[in-house]
Amino acid sequence: VVALLPGAAATAATTPLYRDARQPVEKRVTDLLGRMSLADKIGQMTQAERGAVAADPSLITRWRLGSVLSGGGSVPTPNTPEAWVAMVNEFQRAALATPLGIPMIYGIDAVHGHGNVYGATVFPHNVGLGATRDPRLVGQVYRATAEEVRATGIPWDFAPCVCVSRDERWGRSYESFGEDPDLVVRMRTAVTGLQRGGVLPTLKHYAGDGDTEYGTGSGDYTIDQGITVTSRRDFDRIDLAPYRGVPGLYAVMPSFSSVDWTEDGVGNPTKMHGNRELITGTLKGRLGFQGFVISDWEGIHQLPDTSTDPRPTAAQVRDGVNAGTDMFMEPNTAARFEELLTAEVQAGRVPMSRIDDAVRRILRTKFQIGLFEHPYATTAAIDQVGSAAHRALARQAVAESQVLLKNSHHLLPLKKNAKLYVAGRNADDIGNQAGGWTIDWQGRSGDAIPGTTILAGIKQVAPHARVTYSKDASAPVGKDDIGVVVVGETPYAEGFGDVGGPVCSWCTEPQHEPKSLTLQPGDRAVVDKVCAAAAACVVLIVSGRPQVITDQLAEMDALVASWLPGSEGAGVADVLFGREPFTGRLPVTWPRSTDQVPINIGDKTYKPLYLYGYGLHTRH
Ligand code: BGC
Repeated sequence: VVALLPGAAATAATTPLYRDARQPVEKRVTDLLGRMSLADKIGQMTQAERGAVAADPSLITRWRLGSVLSGGGSVPTPNTPEAWVAMVNEFQRAALATPLGIPMIYGIDAVHGHGNVYGATVFPHNVGLGATRDPRLVGQVYRATAEEVRATGIPWDFAPCVCVSRDERWGRSYESFGEDPDLVVRMRTAVTGLQRGGVLPTLKHYAGDGDTEYGTGSGDYTIDQGITVTSRRDFDRIDLAPYRGVPGLYAVMPSFSSVDWTEDGVGNPTKMHGNRELITGTLKGRLGFQGFVISDWEGIHQLPDTSTDPRPTAAQVRDGVNAGTDMFMEPNTAARFEELLTAEVQAGRVPMSRIDDAVRRILRTKFQIGLFEHPYATTAAIDQVGSAAHRALARQAVAESQVLLKNSHHLLPLKKNAKLYVAGRNADDIGNQAGGWTIDWQGRSGDAIPGTTILAGIKQVAPHARVTYSKDASAPVGKDDIGVVVVGETPYAEGFGDVGGPVCSWCTEPQHEPKSLTLQPGDRAVVDKVCAAAAACVVLIVSGRPQVITDQLAEMDALVASWLPGSEGAGVADVLFGREPFTGRLPVTWPRSTDQVPINIGDKTYKPLYLYGYGLHTRH
């Protein structure tokens, strides 16, 4: 009967095939591609930053943007789940106002929970998750992350980092699950966790980001964005392993680094964003990757060009597209990117087949995640953000991530009515225990997010403990006190990390190189003071990577690697007081001295302070 109504027949005839959810995805993609102009296609390949379009979302329509991102620290005001949903929907409305109404996909870095949003659950950074050796838990953590990301209207996460961290002087070491490719591969439950939670994952940074050589590369970017000097065999075994046989739908982000096969470290190899052999040949070819490749932040601006223009140039755009990247993170240069790419295509220097391949991959993903059917978000799930269930899961993850390195005379677990002297700058600082990528890109010390500090966790888990807290250990230490000293690093992201001075070119000039991974003088003094005066002392290192503590080890009765636990410091207290057992194991080798770094399991000479995989266990 319906088909006989003239109106219905007319509608059926004019509804384009790509809008019909019953059609197979490949057919929908082909249909839509056939309707797109060059401008539509290039728009799909372009991603702008939130800040570039927030004041005037009609730019999304004008530029026909395929995607918008929040870079680290780019958040709406107020930074509430409701404001995120409203913002993403506003951007979506602008995207759907284009002639073909192709939805944009919003992307963000939620690398240890949805750390961008005030009130979200902040999980341990990956290094701590690697220490749990618990792939099931890691899957749950990433699923919960996806639920919180989704609840704020965002379908795409630039995570997980599947880097294999081989040199702890790298400021992104904490984004890695560990130094062993097998461990990283086991922790890819992070990928399935995100997928199950309804969020598109991104494996990054392809490939060898954690394996760059110290001292090679250019200027400020040495080691952080340097050169992986390796053999094809080792590259395959260590750096490519995480990209092999990944199930389901995901994106891949190339690395700011490059690879030198010559093994002599003297070459000046192509930056990964221009490496056609590795992106098109290996990733899309040999490894059979079906999703789309998203460039890193202005990644193509690093490609060789004689111009000193900080904006992308025609050669960079051409080489980047021809190398095989499909979507380009051009935070503040989207319009210029589109203009240059259009000219390159029109001049025949970028083949149309390459453009179609890129757009096909992007559209395929958008269809597969249901974006055409459900482009808008609702606020229905916002109580997932920072929910009690997610916080309980985070607390469990924190407990499982703690690695007990020393425990003389079974000092741990502590008695719940112990007399404690708690000290150190990381004992009562939620920002420090959350680390980088928390509200701000670099993270921040102090009251950054709601949650439980380690000190608060101690008071919660052991309400009958008698606790003296003195951050700098200036209060007198009782001879019957057990010292709990919490020291380590302060937040950072990318670059070299917290090395006791200005840490990166984005912070302050001049650039300081990391000289060592030893504790800073203030931390050392607090350890000395408390451990000398107290009846016994336990030292907790809150940091993104091992800290060299060898010369103070004898003073410590117990030593715990706490990593960057995030918002639920009670998980640390759980293991300190035996509410949970210590079961964590080192995901990276713990060096005896900075001179030993890089040091990794399998090295010819391998005499670290603590072996990869080390960790004492306690009972409940
Ligand atoms: C980082 C990426 C991140 C991107 C977007 C870059 O600086 O290298 O890991 O996904 O910014 O925030």
